[in-house]
Parts: sequence; C-alpha cells; structure tokens
Amino acid sequence: MNHSPLDAKLDALVGGKTATALAKVFGMKTVGDLVGHFPRRYATRGELTAVADVPLDENVSIVAEVLDVRSRPMRAKRGSILEVRLTDGSGGTITLTFFNQAWRERDLAPGSRGIFAGKVGRYRGTLQLAHPDYELFDDDTERDAEAWAKQPLPLYPATSTFSSWQMAKTIALVLPTIEGVDDPLDGVLTEAQRAERGLLPFAEALRLVHQPTEERDWQRARDTLRFVEALVLQAALLERRAEARSHRATPRPATDAGMLAQFDAALPFTLTGDQTQVGAEIAADISADIPMSRLVQGEVGSGKTLVALRAMLQVADTGGQAVLLAPTEVLAAQHLRSVEKVLGPELCALLAPTLITGQLPVAQKRAALLRAAAGQARIVIGTHALLQDNVQFFDLGLVVIDEQHRFGVEQRHLLHAKAENVPHTLVLTATPIPRTVAMTAFGDLDVSVIRELPAGRAGITSHCVALAEHPGWMSRVWERVAEELALGRQAFVVCPAIDAATLEEDDGSGIDASTALAGAPAGEGSEEDAPKRLSAVTDVVEQLRALPVLAGRRIEALHGRLSSDEKDSIMRAFADGDIDVVVATTVIEVGVDVPNASTMVVLDADRFGVSQLHQLRGRVGRGGVPGLALFVTDAEPDTVARERVEAVAATLDGFELARIDLELRSEGDVLGARQSGGRSGLRLLRVTRDGDLIAEARDVAAGILADDPKLAAHPALREAMTRRLDESERAFLDKN
Ligand code: ADP
Ligand code: MG
Repeated sequence: MNHSPLDAKLDALVGGKTATALAKVFGMKTVGDLVGHFPRRYATRGELTAVADVPLDENVSIVAEVLDVRSRPMRAKRGSILEVRLTDGSGGTITLTFFNQAWRERDLAPGSRGIFAGKVGRYRGTLQLAHPDYELFDDDTERDAEAWAKQPLPLYPATSTFSSWQMAKTIALVLPTIEGVDDPLDGVLTEAQRAERGLLPFAEALRLVHQPTEERDWQRARDTLRFVEALVLQAALLERRAEARSHRATPRPATDAGMLAQFDAALPFTLTGDQTQVGAEIAADISADIPMSRLVQGEVGSGKTLVALRAMLQVADTGGQAVLLAPTEVLAAQHLRSVEKVLGPELCALLAPTLITGQLPVAQKRAALLRAAAGQARIVIGTHALLQDNVQFFDLGLVVIDEQHRFGVEQRHLLHAKAENVPHTLVLTATPIPRTVAMTAFGDLDVSVIRELPAGRAGITSHCVALAEHPGWMSRVWERVAEELALGRQAFVVCPAIDAATLEEDDGSGIDASTALAGAPAGEGSEEDAPKRLSAVTDVVEQLRALPVLAGRRIEALHGRLSSDEKDSIMRAFADGDIDVVVATTVIEVGVDVPNASTMVVLDADRFGVSQLHQLRGRVGRGGVPGLALFVTDAEPDTVARERVEAVAATLDGFELARIDLELRSEGDVLGARQSGGRSGLRLLRVTRDGDLIAEARDVAAGILADDPKLAAHPALREAMTRRLDESERAFLDKN
C-alpha cells in the first residue's frame, strides 16, 4: 500500500518542539491533521478588523493599527503597565496591556499595523485583549503595494500558546510535501462535473486554502474542500450502514399472548399516537433478520424509555435478552428501579432485570454476570462497564442505548461483538436533532421522532435570573425555592463545579478548569482581582443550609466524586421525598425521574450548553406539579453566553433550541477559536448552512457505493474515509 504524504508524521517535518506543541494543543499528529486545520477566516493588511464585532471571551486575531501607547507605574506593586490602544479605523478601539514590558513601546509605534491576538475581555467599559501577542507588518516598499495590501491573510483557530501566524509558517513548511497527494474526487466526478461546480484539484485546494493570493483562491479552495468533506463523511456513514445491514440478526417477531401483551394489558395509561407509531416501526424492524439501527428522538418525558421497554419485552418473548445502557451509574440504578416498578412483580420474576455496573461489589457482580451469561436475566441494565470483555450473554437480541450523546458511534459497534448474530440496536436521545445533523452525525441510523407528550403534564415556567443587572435577585431565588418546598415539593440546584478550592468539575460537565477560569476580568487591575469563582456544590450546600428561609430543610450534595452507593442512596432518598433539595453537578442531567421535584435552579447557567440547560429543565414538571426553572447567570447582556441562557428561558421547544444553539455556535466561531483546543467533527461544513450540499454528497456517495461497494476503483476516497473515521474516534460533533 502506498503511503500518503498526509499520513506522514509531523515531527520529522516541522521540528520536535513544534510537533509536540501541535500535538498537545490541537491533538495533531500527521501532515493531514495540520493541513486540515483550516483558517477560520481571512483578513487583509489593508483593511482593519471592526472591533465592535469581536466576540467576548474568545481567542481572536485581528488586523489593527496602533493608536497610542502609554506607560504608567502599577498601583499596588512595583513595576509598570504598558497600555497600547489599537484602532480599527472606524472609531472602535481595543486595548492591550503588558506588565513590565516597557521595551515594547519602541516596537509598537503609533501608526504601525499588524495582526494582534488574545482573548477578548471587557474591563470598565473598554475592550481588552488579554495575554496579547502580535506580529507587525513590515513595510517592505519593494513589493507591489496594492497586491500586498489585498492579499488574504489566513487567520487560524489559535490559542494563547500557538498563534495564527505561527500556524501559517508551520503549514508553509509542510505544503510542498503534499503536492502529489491523491484526489478523493478522482473517478467520483467527471472533468465536466468538476468544472461545472468549479472544483479544484485536491492538492491545489489544500494549498490555496492556506496560501491564497486573492479572495477567489480561497473561496474555490474552500468550496472544493467542503464538497470533499461532505462526500467522505457520507460515504463513510453509508458504508457503515451497508456493513451493519450485511450481518444477520435473529428475527424477534411479536407474539400474541406473551409478556408484551401482558404488560400492555396492565398499562395504567394509553400510549400516545407517536409512541404507537414508533413502537410499530421498531416492532417491524426487530421482526426482520437485518439488524435494526434506529434512533428515537423525543423530548424528555415523551415516553421513549417506555417504548424501548416494550421492544425489550418483544425480544424476551422470543427467548432473547435485551440490554439497556445508561450514561451514568446513577441513571442505570434508577432505570432498574423504574423498570422493576413498571413491570410489576410477576413480570419481574420472569425477566429478572439485572444491574451490571463497574462499581458493583465483586460477589454481586459475579452473580449478575452469571445471570447474563446463563440467559436468565432477560433484561440487563448498566453503564459502559457492559462493554467490557468479561460480560457475556446467552442470546443478546437488543441493545438499547439511552441518551446517545454520551456514547460514541464506535461504542455501538463494540457491543455487536457480544452476540453471534448482530443484536438489534435502538438509540434513544432527548437532544432534538435537526435533519441535517441527523444525516451527518447519525447517518448510519434510521430516525424516528416522538413529538407528542403524554397528556396531563402541568408545564414548566422558565426565567433567566440576570445578576449582572439585578444582583439582588439571588435571595429571591432562594425564597422561591422555599415557597415551593412549603407546598411539599422538592428542588434541584445545579452547579458547574464540585468544589471551589480545586475547581474540580464533574465528568461530563463538558467544561475544564481552564475554561472555568475564562471569565477572569482582563486588563488593568487584573493582577489584583481574584478570578471569577464558579458556584461549587460543596459551597452551595453549606450556604443553603445556613439560609434562614431554608431552615429545617434537608439539603444534600450529589456529584461524581461520591461513591456510587452514596449517589444511589441520595437519589433514592430524594425520590422517596426524604431530601428536600439536592445540590448537584450535571450527574443529574439526563433521565433522573422524580415527579415531585418542581424546581430547578441552575447556577452559573452560562457555563452550560443550550441542550444541557434544556435537559436539566426536563428534570422538573414531570408529574402533575407545575415546574419552575431558574437559570442564574452573571453574564453581561448581549454576550453569546447570555443569549444562550435567555434562549433556553424563552422556549420549551427543543427543536427550536437545537436550531438556536447551532446558530449561536457558528456565530461565535466567526472570529474566535472556541474549538481550537479539541478537534471538532466538522471542518468546513456547517450543518445549518450546508444541508443541501450534504444531501447532494450523500446521493453522489450512494451512487459510487452502489457500483463499487468495496471502493476498489476509488482508492483515494477509501483512504480519506479511513482517515476520517480514525479522527471521528477522537471526537465527533464536539462534546455535545
Ligand atoms: P423519556 O424516557 O422519554 O424521558 P419515560 O419513558 O421515562 O420518558 O416516561 C416519562 C414518564 O411518563 C414515566 O413515568 C412514564 O411511565 C410516563 N409515561 C410514558 N408514556 C406515557 C403515556 N402514554 N401516558 C402517560 N404517562 C406516560
Ligand atoms: Mg428516559
């Protein structure tokens, strides 16, 4: 097999130190990783960046001109502060602050232009770049002045440790090595089709996206690379789908008088129309010998778990076993309890629902493993511990994965190895997924939607509690909680961190300590200010216990550092009504079901994503009592952070929120580098914008695979797909 220049290791080409930095900061290992790091946008030397548009709290690179420079002594310490004001030529200014670097004054003469980079903050009404770095343009008069001013300068997603211009130089080093790289579009499109779409040869597109001489260059390069990306992705997903369908599954047809029928007859309510419809789709799928791969999406509380349980019963009726995977131990334990309750004692005796998690005591675990291997446990519930090798089944017929976003695509496949015939797979998600996202992230699955909620839900009221304008509202929040408790109800309080001293955050909160500190005020005086502290579970518990309005209430902490026994007993006590307020991290995000809990307070709500907030809210208003969600934030008005929180407070429609989320995210990406630290699944494609392109690429890919299922005649496409799948193992569609 010939070795693509894209797979060459970076260290030989760019030097060990740079290669180490690229690996550490961006996770890059190969030339393909590096040249696949595309510019976020382009600037020119002749045009200054409008600073009014730069997003707060993001690492940005802007083209600007030095307006003035001033040096002064620090107030509290020895040393000096150099303040450099930059202008964007249309009245906007942004300030760089350097401590004890007075020598830079010579460098940064008023009138000099360059690229300036840093994290955008606001301090006393002025914009600041924290941790600033810059590269000035040299005034080389020999050059064609006009071309020089107009040449697009690539601005890369960068971090404070690896600047955009460093990236440009490093990429320039490796570009000569990829001139002969194979083109994934060879044999896919004819010359005429290529010309019609204005697509460049692949190697040329890779060069021009990084080193354009005019705007037209990078536009064509970007269009080409976008098409390639969509094609490779869709081909990979379609191939995976075909591969899954090429295996055999054991058919699990419905029986007339089995356990499912018994269960349905005893059900205290009628299924909603959507539950019936989706149930029928699943029943048909698992009756066939092609393995089912189906995604069911539906709002929290729409009755997905019930639909899944009915499918599990249908499988049990044919003698098979079903597995239900939950993202956390707390949820697995809760699923077991609610499954036992819904089934009732008689069906429980027949089905022996069994919990298998990583933290079970050894003896108990051994017994559980035995029951699974012997086929006695018809329903097994657990966490990813179930993916481990020592878990065996007698006749595994169905795998249900609850809350897909915590499980990778690859993990679905691991489970397939556990059955002789491939088990049917059902994925449940409460995160609403727009059509194009479904096509992109779950292109190998069939999709069913449950839109209807069961009747009799009392509804949820949501508010954004904006402390920036109304610092006094915090005490009102606790009063509201006290009022709800006085009605006999219960409350959740969610914090982004476990513990303020260490700023340790919980698994799955999706935030690391460095982002947690990102709210630190920048600029003058910041050397004296403490960084903003995130609300932490252990602190808040103490604080609430000391509040007079909550006197006599039982308030407990729940987070990922507790043992699973502790977590479990707290959840149980909460479910039984013995605890009034649970102060938790996002361990309670998904699936926790306590109908008497009416109130959800989220502290530092801007630290959570839109879908996370929506999920959290879904924990209340589940029973007959009306829900109340209070999203507390000190984010400033008109910031993306604040908009996210307000968007969630403004609507209960998850699909609408998914759309807003995508929009706000891509907006934040325009100048910034939010994803710079990790590799996002999509490079140049945007699911909001490129739906048509994605659909078109899917058709083209389907055509190719129909004629050449093994892609024997399309080696470059094959290679690109393999590379793509390797990468998606590292990350897919970000952490969301
Ligand atoms: P999801 O998994 O979608 O969040 P669940 O299946 O856990 O939803 O259902 C939420 C609650 O609603 C459960 O207590 C369940 O028993 C109940 N439920 C499910 N379907 C119906 C229905 N058709 N009518 C009334 N209640 C229902
Ligand atoms: Mg559920």
